[in-house]
Amino acid sequence: MAAAADLGVEVVVGSERRPALAHLMEGRWLRVPLRNPSAAARAVAAFARERPLDAVVGVDDGSTLAAAAVAAALGLPRNPPDAVAASHDKEVSRRCFAAAGLLTPRFRSWPAHADAEEVATTRYYPVVVKPVDLSGSRGVIRADSPDDLAAAFARVAALVRSPDVCPPGTSPQRILVEDFIPGTEVAVEGLVQGGRLDVLAIFDKPDALEGPFFEETIYVTPTRLHEDAQGLIRETATAATAALGLREGPIHAEIRLNDRGAWVLEVAARSIGGLCARTLRFGAGVPLEDLILRHAAALPIESLERERAATGVMMLPIRRAGRLVEVRGQDDARAVPGIEGLTVIIPRGAEIVPLPEGDRYLGFMFARGETPAEVEAALREAHERLEVVVE
Ligand code: ADP
Repeated sequence: MAAAADLGVEVVVGSERRPALAHLMEGRWLRVPLRNPSAAARAVAAFARERPLDAVVGVDDGSTLAAAAVAAALGLPRNPPDAVAASHDKEVSRRCFAAAGLLTPRFRSWPAHADAEEVATTRYYPVVVKPVDLSGSRGVIRADSPDDLAAAFARVAALVRSPDVCPPGTSPQRILVEDFIPGTEVAVEGLVQGGRLDVLAIFDKPDALEGPFFEETIYVTPTRLHEDAQGLIRETATAATAALGLREGPIHAEIRLNDRGAWVLEVAARSIGGLCARTLRFGAGVPLEDLILRHAAALPIESLERERAATGVMMLPIRRAGRLVEVRGQDDARAVPGIEGLTVIIPRGAEIVPLPEGDRYLGFMFARGETPAEVEAALREAHERLEVVVE
């Protein structure tokens, strides 16, 4: 909304629930059933007959499918709905990546009602169990033995059947069991225009993601990887985006590198999640959201070149379940040189749930510096100053 205001672009918000300020948003808010893309397309098309729309942007995993259907109904340049659907289903993605000759983990998918003991007859370990369509590492669990796998499968099966993930009248998502791929992980932020991917940033994830749960913490860009590895990451992200058939808009990919090459874990048809985009500035200080809106509205884009400074974000993890009493030490954390911002997004008193069932972070902390190492050190030091009180 802020980027649109800066650009002078008028926004109509489509959401499932009435926004708190709906009374101030007459004609600029529309109820859209995001979980039902064809109904979403009908609702927006009816609105657009009265009030023409020039572009549609899905802002998160909950809205990209509906956005693709809406754009198709309005005749706007867009991602093919099938490509977005493929990016939403980790099993379909795996097949697309494998068919394009990309390194992709061996997998098998199971219905949530499968017998956990039978699933555990899988022969290769370690494996990773995950629902086919959740994000933020929710329900992603590593298993090192048949016993681990049976327990992990039962846990993920319970999650995908919970009312929050599986609303009444829908069926639970399938569950993937795939090889654990060891290696170094990076995240890739990109913008696809007419089928051509520009890699906007490669983020290192300096905390090892070995499981059993895969909590994202620190992202730092530019990457410290060697130029050759960066080339391989760019090529792989480009091939994976094409393999899914994504043609327009932002992508966010997770790639693992090891001595066999670059493995695509996933490509999502959206930008980086949460507040993490605050780490990215382009050209003369333009935010990522500005680029995304300019691309969607076919406005000129001056530069896709990220600023020179190193920047990073720490997604503040939730380590214990309970009621959040407070996050102490925030001023001390902000005082660490290089720290640019700290936002706790969960209100005091709220119930918090750690991974693998949880679906949010406590908040986000941002840093900037001369080098990636400096940024990482600032984030770590600031994090040590925080004390999360949970009851
Ligand atoms: P989400 O869409 O919820 O982020 P991912 O499939 O990207 O789910 O998995 C989340 C994280 O779990 C990845 O970023 C990675 O660290 C880890 N992970 C997932 N699958 C594998 C795998 N097959 N091998 C190794 N690590 C994995």
